[in-house]
Amino acid sequence: MSSSLIVSITLISTSIVLNLYICLYVFIKRKHYMSIANVFLLHSVFSLIYCVGSVFLLMSTSLSEIKFWNTVLYAGMPFSATMGLLFIIKYLGIHFSKIASWSLMIVPMISFLMVATNDWHQLHYRVLELDPLQGAPFVYLEMGVWYIIHGFYTFGSMFGAVLLVVSRWRDTEDLYRPQLMSLLFGQLIPIVTAFVYLLGLTPTGIDPVPMVLWLTSLFYLWSISTSRMFTLIPIAKDAIFNSINDGVMVVDESRRLVEFNDACKRMFPDLDVSMFGDSFSVVWDTISDVSFPIELGRGSESSQQDLIQHRSKDATYTYQVQISNVQGSEGLLIIFTDMTEVKNLQSQLEHFAYYDELTGIYNRRAFFQYCEEAFQESKEQDTPFTIILTDIDYFKKVNDTYGHSVGDQVLEQVAKVCQSQLHGRELFARYGGEEFVLGVKGYTEEEGAALAEQLRSEVEALTIHTPDGKITVTLSLGVAALTKEDEALYQILNHADQALYRAKEAGRNRVCVYQNSTPELV
Ligand code: GH3
Ligand code: MG
Ligand code: MG
Repeated sequence: MSSSLIVSITLISTSIVLNLYICLYVFIKRKHYMSIANVFLLHSVFSLIYCVGSVFLLMSTSLSEIKFWNTVLYAGMPFSATMGLLFIIKYLGIHFSKIASWSLMIVPMISFLMVATNDWHQLHYRVLELDPLQGAPFVYLEMGVWYIIHGFYTFGSMFGAVLLVVSRWRDTEDLYRPQLMSLLFGQLIPIVTAFVYLLGLTPTGIDPVPMVLWLTSLFYLWSISTSRMFTLIPIAKDAIFNSINDGVMVVDESRRLVEFNDACKRMFPDLDVSMFGDSFSVVWDTISDVSFPIELGRGSESSQQDLIQHRSKDATYTYQVQISNVQGSEGLLIIFTDMTEVKNLQSQLEHFAYYDELTGIYNRRAFFQYCEEAFQESKEQDTPFTIILTDIDYFKKVNDTYGHSVGDQVLEQVAKVCQSQLHGRELFARYGGEEFVLGVKGYTEEEGAALAEQLRSEVEALTIHTPDGKITVTLSLGVAALTKEDEALYQILNHADQALYRAKEAGRNRVCVYQNSTPELV
């Protein structure tokens, strides 16, 4: 065996051992690198097969042995080059479907089959014989059609990967440029070695590429080990999955987007994997039209939270935004919790705290709150103020005859008719069961009485259509105006109540005004 053969076999064997070591290392630590580890492992395994095929090829002593180990070599080499390209694609975060990835493997598959079956068609090697001068393991070969296609494809894949890395150079922050450089070296090493071989600078008949493949793996490994893109994700993973209903984005120490979960994509449909590596502020401007409520500086923003209103095509959502540190790194988790339902419920509760559910007008609580203010202002400014209390006549009979739900309908209609007579300045509220109250600022006793009379006649004229027939109801009303003697709101309410009682006593369907310490019928 010649010395150059011995050196080559030793170098390739070393490459095998180193590659094997790198493979095992990544396999054991694969959790830390997420899915990029799988592509890396496949690339390294194919490189290993390539190396094993090469080393045994160099030790072959007959043409049939050479052919066998050359086939093994082809089970690795074409796939290794394509896997290198896929690794770069994945590393750069370029969206690439599974089908596209598989279709990249078609040519390597054909190359393998062509070599395995070459004796039948000679499409890969037109001639493949033992070298007449040197003998095994050296061969004399003439290229077939497929050999050329395979060569173009393999070099094309490798150059494609180089071009991809170079094209990213400008958009990559300084922080990640060493990683890009390392990828570039990893990719260029086999290309340059192959050229050196083609130029005849290495021993003829011995492919030197397998000797340097471990270096490619090492450069790749360094890139993925030092890139926050891949080391941050596993750390953030638990937090993402623990709060799966929340939208979660992960940004690295340069505040660039490195990951988001499905819930986040649902919340912000414009979010896309192509935004990985983009500055968070640029991403945010693309996916939302409100400004981000928290400044993402360095360190101080942890555990801050705020609410945002996010408008999507069909609705507006309320999200609570929360920032949290990714343990063990300077990355951040940005967590979006959908508070839309809680907010709606809260405003509903707030609404029902002040409005009557059945009639939609103010309830007793709102009436007292607002009327107290109106009363005090009128007293201070010495301006007129009138209270009108009203009660539906014989309402119990309506309930008894037609049922409670028809009674409800009557209450709604009466409230609606009364409201239609008002101008918006009056405080109109449901005082109790079938009693309503009006607090009118700026109205004198006469004006209050006139309004009361107007309500009475409108309700009297109202016909309510129910499944059981038409219903009419009447109102009794008590009116009381603010006088100098009144110190508190309840005193006027008391007077209005007395006037209402008088109206009832006098036969109902009428207005009674409290005057000179006695309720007087109008
Ligand atoms: P009067 O002319 O003396 O006012 O006779 P009335 O029957 O209207 O008097 P009363 O105060 O005795 O009856 C009021 C009835 O109103 C009793 C109660 O069942 C009914 N009521 C109170 N709140 C509601 C309600 O929200 N819906 C319905 N359908 N009925 C109610
Ligand atoms: Mg009553
Ligand atoms: Mg009544």
